[in-house]
Amino acid sequence: MKAAVFEGIEKIVIKDVPIPKMDDNSVLVRVKACAVCGSDIRIFHHGNPRVKPPQILGHEISGEIVEVGKNVSKFKAGDRVAMGGDIPCGECVYCESGIGNNCSINYALGYQFPGGFAEYVLLNSLVVNYGPVHKIPDNVSYDEAALAEPLACVLNGLELSNVRLGDVVVIIGAGPVGCMMIEVVKRMGAAKVIMVQRSKPRLELARRFGADVYICSSEENAVERVLEETGGMGADVIICANSSPEAQIDALKMAKNRARVNFFGGLPRNNSLMTLDTNIIHYRELFVHGSHGASPSHHRKALELIGSGTIKIGNYISHKFCLDDILEGYKMAESHLGMRVVINP
Ligand SMILES: [Zn+2]
Ligand SMILES: [Zn+2]
Repeated sequence: MKAAVFEGIEKIVIKDVPIPKMDDNSVLVRVKACAVCGSDIRIFHHGNPRVKPPQILGHEISGEIVEVGKNVSKFKAGDRVAMGGDIPCGECVYCESGIGNNCSINYALGYQFPGGFAEYVLLNSLVVNYGPVHKIPDNVSYDEAALAEPLACVLNGLELSNVRLGDVVVIIGAGPVGCMMIEVVKRMGAAKVIMVQRSKPRLELARRFGADVYICSSEENAVERVLEETGGMGADVIICANSSPEAQIDALKMAKNRARVNFFGGLPRNNSLMTLDTNIIHYRELFVHGSHGASPSHHRKALELIGSGTIKIGNYISHKFCLDDILEGYKMAESHLGMRVVINP
């Protein structure tokens, strides 16, 4: 089969590799779509301790089941399915309590297990039994279904931030995930959504997603503007949906007393030690927390929200490339000139 193989930092090669070997407990999927996540690009440039090259990346996957091991009863050949990234081990204390994205082993497709930038992806018994593998509603396309993964991460993050009716929510970072958050927090009852983004073209792209206020932080002081927009009080929820230490510092300054501040985007590994004024947290009684990935239940819910039309996920797909052109797809995703890029192997 054809696959985009990550062979080391800055090296992805399109080559012919054997179709993964089936066993009685696994499922083979013909990949139809795999979206490019920011983390795929970070692995390409910087590597990741959980990814040992050569490996096939990609974890925002959808496809058609072509073969099912004889012990598998959940799925059959011909099923259209979408997969999420985080694979619970099913046995640790976190998996036991239903938060498999916190699994102590932390397996994921496109990390320890071969991912979706290939013609076929194998779902091993762990993925089949505990993983986020769900049937795609009939009215949802493969491309759309692949984006259930990032939407699931959004749902997890916003649930943890406890967005409530009437909240003022600030989202810092207008990438596809930040833009999805606009739509979701409005559905959760946010009264005012403020989008903050440094690059102007990216901010312009985000305008159609319907935030109430757009702030270009390279042109104006985002903290002052948020305070202005909130009558000097600050926001109830601030989500850092980017990888910027400065955004995390600003987020505290934008917070109303008792606000929830979510460090949703991870910082680069060598740049995650920073100085925060923790007295802001202390005196304002802030709840500062993180979130990463999603559990299988979020993935299921994401697919349901896409299927019902509650979230118009097609709006977040801007470009499609074939597998041969995956590096062009990476470039497009990095250029900040579009939304999600989908690869169709
Ligand atoms: Zn992702
Ligand atoms: Zn586990």
